[in-house]
Amino acid sequence: MTSDNSVAFIGLGAMGLPMAARLVATGVAVRGFDLSETARADLTAAGGQAFPSPAEAVVGSDVVVLMLPDSTVVEAVMAQIRGSLKPATLVIDMSSSEPLRTRQLADDLRTREGVDLVDAPVSGGVKGARSGTLTIMVGGQPGQVDRARGLLEHLGVVKHAGPVGAGHAVKALNNLLSATHLWVTSEAMLAGERFGLDPSVMLEIFNGSSGRSGSTENKWPNFILPGTFDSGFALRLMLKDMRIAADLARQVGLPSALGEAAIEQWARADQRLGPGADHTEVARCVADRSSPEQPDQSD
Ligand code: NAD
Repeated sequence: MTSDNSVAFIGLGAMGLPMAARLVATGVAVRGFDLSETARADLTAAGGQAFPSPAEAVVGSDVVVLMLPDSTVVEAVMAQIRGSLKPATLVIDMSSSEPLRTRQLADDLRTREGVDLVDAPVSGGVKGARSGTLTIMVGGQPGQVDRARGLLEHLGVVKHAGPVGAGHAVKALNNLLSATHLWVTSEAMLAGERFGLDPSVMLEIFNGSSGRSGSTENKWPNFILPGTFDSGFALRLMLKDMRIAADLARQVGLPSALGEAAIEQWARADQRLGPGADHTEVARCVADRSSPEQPDQSD
């Protein structure tokens, strides 16, 4: 642990709450805020201290951790708290945000407030957040990353991705891969099933073969086959990450043909399933899409 002993944690959702609770369990004094009253009560129950506004939560904190939905919310929260930050506070944005917006925000904070910001998005899901086994992709200068490391190592394995924004870039690209794998895995699983193959046998064979991925090793066996669809990662958040990655690919002049096709399918699934859907529910839309055409029953 560094000398950064007072931590403010903003965003206590599916990921933020178990992460904040882990920090509390390791002896860190966590001051938290979330728009949801229930989330604030859950932090208090876990041993943290909840505050009625983000500005009050960050008072006196050495480090501010953000675990919010996206760049728009991160920027809105930063606008609320920046006047209350101590000089030399370290802000760690663990949300999956947009790399270029993160760079702009970091430049602006450094110039106007003397505050450092590093990006540190994660992979590993709610399970990894609970068990402290996240992969944490950090973007920042080496000295800033070293300062963040002691705290982040309570939450998972730290990988220094490059300068500020690099963590958010690699996170979005990772999720474009993950989502594309999940869609095509679902197509393969459903085609095999319709051919008469046993889904459990198929997964066992894929997992010993070159078709394996996080979708065959984790998502299909744990959330899709049992029909629970409760990974805790929203479809809408995955689609946001896919779009960030596709924008990045376009910006560097290498548009992702397959990635864009996957986004189209995921966007259609999002429209059909609505805002609360878990991302593993896309498998349901693959099944519906591949049903034989039904005759039109309308007049
Ligand atoms: P979530 O929707 O469960 O949590 C977000 C929290 O932010 C909510 O509790 C919400 O009330 C709060 N919030 C929204 N606006 C706010 C504001 N203005 N001020 C304070 N609080 C506000 O989302 P999550 O699944 O915890 O994801 C958080 C981030 O982590 C996202 O960027 C997501 O893409 C990323 N992520 C999620 C997972 C996962 O498995 N759930 C895995 C890796 C990365």
